[in-house]
Amino acid sequence: MMPPELPPSTLRLSIDREALAANWRALDRLSGRARAGAAVKADAYGVGVAVAAPVLRDAGAEDFFVAHWQEVPALLAHVSAACVSVLHGPLTAADAAFAKATGVRPVINSLHQAQLWIDAGGGVCDLMVDTGINRIGLGMADLTDPLIGRLQVDVLHSHLAAAEEDSALNAAQQSRWNTARGMVQHKRASLANSAGIMLGADYHGELTRPGLALYGGVPCAALANEICQVVTPEAALIQVRDIAVGECVGYNATFQADRPMRIGVASLGYADGYLRIWSNKGMLRSMGRPVPVIGRVSMDMTVLDLTEVPDLREGDWLAVDYSLPEAAATSGLSQYELLTLLGGRFTR
Ligand SMILES: *Cc1c(COP(=O)(O)O)cnc(C)c1O
Repeated sequence: MMPPELPPSTLRLSIDREALAANWRALDRLSGRARAGAAVKADAYGVGVAVAAPVLRDAGAEDFFVAHWQEVPALLAHVSAACVSVLHGPLTAADAAFAKATGVRPVINSLHQAQLWIDAGGGVCDLMVDTGINRIGLGMADLTDPLIGRLQVDVLHSHLAAAEEDSALNAAQQSRWNTARGMVQHKRASLANSAGIMLGADYHGELTRPGLALYGGVPCAALANEICQVVTPEAALIQVRDIAVGECVGYNATFQADRPMRIGVASLGYADGYLRIWSNKGMLRSMGRPVPVIGRVSMDMTVLDLTEVPDLREGDWLAVDYSLPEAAATSGLSQYELLTLLGGRFTR
C-alpha cells in the first residue's frame, strides 16, 4: 500500500535565499584578493545543505567545507567533488578509500592521516596546520616530516582561535601560518573564518572559509552592517483559548494572568531547538505585531500572549524573533548554537 501523503508541517524555517547569496558576496568582497569559500558543515549550520549549497554555488562559491564524511553525499547532489573538502580528514582506511572513490579532498590533520592518505594512493588533499588553537591539525614541527613532502597539497589551512576578539593570539597564529606557507608546497593558503576576514589582507591568503556570517551571524562589530538575517523560524498556532485572572500557564505555573487573557499555543518547543531559556522571555510576531512567550517552553509547545493579536486563529503562522546577534544577547547562547540547534521537525 502507498503510504498516505503527509499533511503540511506546522513548523518551518523561512530561509531568505537572497540574503544568503548577498552575505556570501559581501564576504567574498571583504576577502579582497582571496576567494571566499563556504563552511556548510552541520547541515549548513542548520539551514539545510540542500537549500544553502545551490544558493552559495550560484552566488559563486567554489570551495565547500564539511566536517564529516557522512556529510559528503548530500553536498555532492549540488556541487562537484573537486569543490569539497572534509575538515576532519580520514580516521580510517575506509575514510581514505571513500575520498578516493568520490574525489573529494581530505584535510590532512596529522602524520597518521598523511600515512593513511598515501597508503590509499594519495592525490590532491588539503593540509591543516595547528598554529595555536590546539584542536586538530599538524604541529609546526610535523611539517618537516618526509611524509608531508609526499603530499599533493591544494589548500594549506590553519584556523584562528579568537578571530572575533582583539587578541594577541591572532597575530601569533598569522605569523606561524606564514611560516608554514614557506615550509610546505601548496597551491592556496587559507586562515580566516567569518571574523578572520575582518582582520585584513594579511589573514586572507588565497581562500577564506566563512560559515556563521553566511547564515546571518555577526561575530564582530565590523561585520554588523554587512550581514543580513537569513533564518527565521516559523510555527503555526495549534490552539487559541481564553483564561481568567489568576490562572497559570504551562509546567510549574511560572506565569500567572493578572487580567483576563487570550492566549495561543505554537507548535514549537525545546525539542525543536527553541530552548527553555526563552520561557517568559522570547518573542514571536504576526505581521510585525508582538506575540510574547508566556510560561515555560515545553518539548513541543510554546504558549503565547495574544493580547496584541486578538484576531489570530488556529492554523495562523507566527515568526520567531531570531536575529542572531540579538537572540544571542538575550538568551546567553552563542549565535552558532542558536543556528545549529534548530531541529529536524522544521521543514526547510
Ligand atoms: C567551522 C569552520 C569555519 C567557519 O567558521 P565561522 O566562524 O563559522 O565563520 C572555518 N574553518 C574551519 C576549519 C571550521 O571548522
